[in-house]
Amino acid sequence: MKNNAIETIGIFGGGQLGRMLAQAALPLNLTCTFFETHQDCPSAILGKVFDATNGVELQQFIESSDVYTLEFENTPLAYADALAAANKALHPPRNALATAQNRIAEKTLFDQLNIPVAAYRKVESQADLQVAVSALGLPLVLKTATGGYDGKGQFVLRDVAQINEAWQALGPAGVLIAESFVKFERELSIIAVRGQDGEVRTWPLAENHHHHGILSHSIVPAPSSEALQPIAQDYITRLLDHLNYVGVLTLELFVTANGLLANEMAPRVHNSGHWSIEGAVCSQFENHMRAVAGLPLGSTELISECMMVNIIGRHPKREDVLKLSGAHLHFYGKEERVGRKLGHVTLIPTQGNTLEGLCAELAKILPEPLALKG
Ligand code: AMP
Repeated sequence: MKNNAIETIGIFGGGQLGRMLAQAALPLNLTCTFFETHQDCPSAILGKVFDATNGVELQQFIESSDVYTLEFENTPLAYADALAAANKALHPPRNALATAQNRIAEKTLFDQLNIPVAAYRKVESQADLQVAVSALGLPLVLKTATGGYDGKGQFVLRDVAQINEAWQALGPAGVLIAESFVKFERELSIIAVRGQDGEVRTWPLAENHHHHGILSHSIVPAPSSEALQPIAQDYITRLLDHLNYVGVLTLELFVTANGLLANEMAPRVHNSGHWSIEGAVCSQFENHMRAVAGLPLGSTELISECMMVNIIGRHPKREDVLKLSGAHLHFYGKEERVGRKLGHVTLIPTQGNTLEGLCAELAKILPEPLALKG
């Protein structure tokens, strides 16, 4: 460290989010180290990877950098404690991580901050589930309180006859949460960054489309979202300020006939914000690194309407995507596997190429066009 300036940032996790964080950090003369179980992870090309299967390497990782962040929301809280013991800062703070790792703690916080959510009940037994069904009605969504992602660890309960089956499926996983089934019109996400001085900047709302529980594509700005933007911005600012948060936070929202309902938050950069690399003045990745390093934040203003499309399972031919003027290709250096996020494409309309036109062209190119073909 020279002149007390932050120069090295340690990242828990080394997936594509770590890779894009490190890519954004590089022009700022910030270098990264990673703590990750897979040595050939997407981030490996950008910095030293410490082996997360090895306790000794945790200490070495903690000595390797000036300040720490994460790209994986299930980063064990014990790592945050180990950092605190070594007097090293973690952004976002431990409390934000702990809250985001537990759906009940998360919903309780949303309630406390008057951020509307679907009605919910904690479920610790089959009898509790019966009570939840009586209180909330059917259908309801049963989720594990911890450990779920991309729709895993969930059961949609539509009939009382399924109570036993639902309990057998998820009960052994620990504490559960039962939520009223939300008849949403669409799903949005808001992403914001908070600096070390408390300044908050927010990107435009993204409209998110899923396929088999995985994000397929995001449209930015979310169509017809002018009236929703200030509301979502207010909700995420309440969370950021309450948590004394530093870095990027994502809040996933349902649009319903009665307004916005919060679903969950992610204490990290998010797939629905990848568009910001080309579509915003300063991306979620760069602003996260700026915040973590204690640097001034960049503008979150939109440069152009755009669309981010995930590449899942199989790679398209690089040259086919690059032939599309206005398509920005990001491969993550991963091997193909069913359902795996391998990369993404951001589409920016150009003269003579509308977003709809580009999207139709891209749908022809992607081996698995997901929900793009409707
Ligand atoms: P989550 O893991 O909470 O993000 O849920 C994954 C997906 O399941 C969401 O993106 C929604 O499409 C759907 N979902 C989650 N909770 C509910 C709910 N209470 N009602 C209806 N759909 C839900």
